[in-house]
Amino acid sequence: MSNQQVLRATRTAPGRAPQQTELNRVCAAAGCETRLSRYNKRQFCYSHWPTVLPVQRGVEKKIAA
Ligand SMILES: [Zn+2]
Repeated sequence: MSNQQVLRATRTAPGRAPQQTELNRVCAAAGCETRLSRYNKRQFCYSHWPTVLPVQRGVEKKIAA
């Protein structure tokens, strides 16, 4: 009685490898020596990356004091 089932692993599809940048890059901000991830395409570390705030729409309500 051959009721045994064999599970065989399949190879993962050959996909695109994640983009990598140069190794050992350092944040471009002056005095910052944070090493950037090789997957980080930016020139700054997370703390020095300029934050872009979305445009605020609408009118602010004035609160009467
Ligand atoms: Zn930095």
